[in-house]
Amino acid sequence: MLVAYGPDGRPAIAEETPLTQLQSWSHGRLLYCPNCRGIVHVRGGAEKRTQLHFAHQKGECAWSTEAESVRHMRGKVVLAQWLKEQFPTAQVTLEERLPEPNRIADIFVAHEDGRRWAIEFQCAPLEIEEWKHRHEAYRKAGIIDTWIIGTNRREKQEAFIEAVLTMAREILFLDPQVALPRVWLRWPIARVVAQEWQSGGQRNFRTPTLDGWVGRLGYGATLISSLAEVRLDAQAHIIHPVRMTMEAQMQLLQTFSTASTPDASQLEAYLRPNVNDEALHSVILPLLRSYLLDPDLLRRYNYGRGLEEHPLSESDRQRVNKACEWLGTLTRRGFTTERLQDLLKEIPYVGPYAAFVGYVEMLIALKG
Ligand SMILES: [Zn+2]
Repeated sequence: MLVAYGPDGRPAIAEETPLTQLQSWSHGRLLYCPNCRGIVHVRGGAEKRTQLHFAHQKGECAWSTEAESVRHMRGKVVLAQWLKEQFPTAQVTLEERLPEPNRIADIFVAHEDGRRWAIEFQCAPLEIEEWKHRHEAYRKAGIIDTWIIGTNRREKQEAFIEAVLTMAREILFLDPQVALPRVWLRWPIARVVAQEWQSGGQRNFRTPTLDGWVGRLGYGATLISSLAEVRLDAQAHIIHPVRMTMEAQMQLLQTFSTASTPDASQLEAYLRPNVNDEALHSVILPLLRSYLLDPDLLRRYNYGRGLEEHPLSESDRQRVNKACEWLGTLTRRGFTTERLQDLLKEIPYVGPYAAFVGYVEMLIALKG
């Protein structure tokens, strides 16, 4: 355990109370288990290369029946720190004994506005029935429970892991025993999203690995990251900037496929993570504007031949010539044909956007 009571009856927290103080209390048998009031001693610490903690002399305690792993203790310290940084006005406590439900939460977060969260770091196997019992007890007591799993259980297809995934729509595995704690964030994604993601071009932002199956929920994406990049939102959902970008992209893609015409601001939002400002504002958006003014221009132009029922007009010829000249000025600014073609690959080939891509391809061909 990470919390003991000192001689003054106040909680002493491993790593927060000076070590010499703890050692002297430990020596004087002045540290008590917060749960059974039995005497505990200081164990581990940096010198022994393990997590500093408190333990009963002979391991007997009604509250801690199983020996706690070093990973579990380290994880609690790391997660408490992570939560304190994110929620400086909240009270974050380790090993908080809650009267309702009658449990010790690994970490408890009490927000100023009354929201209460229990963060459980699960490193040991857990029966599904036991997990359900704990989860329901927390929710009944008005506490949001968030389950973070030890990385040692990452490849184990346990029923409770799947239950957590179903409840929260994501699951976070944590390795707290490295200098920069690492996490694996996994969440289910639709099959079409998996396909789109795999077929996408070179992305500027990090791409999650795709996992095949996440149990019965289908495809899963896994993002490997440092814990510091992960955040909890106001409802204690686990969020990561890359996942948010990816989900926003996928939502836009859905909109694109059913739109009637391309939309400049939506296309800009979609391309922003992968395309730089200059390419966006000097190339793609001006092209889209001219396309939207007259989407039919190049079809009428028909490689300078015009159409049988609609011979080429002088104004159409001039407009196409002007567009080609403009593309020429872009080449001198570094937007070569090759680079333009690469940019086009970033535009999703769906719905009315496919026609826009076709228009630009033809324009590039006309420029020669
Ligand atoms: Zn005890």
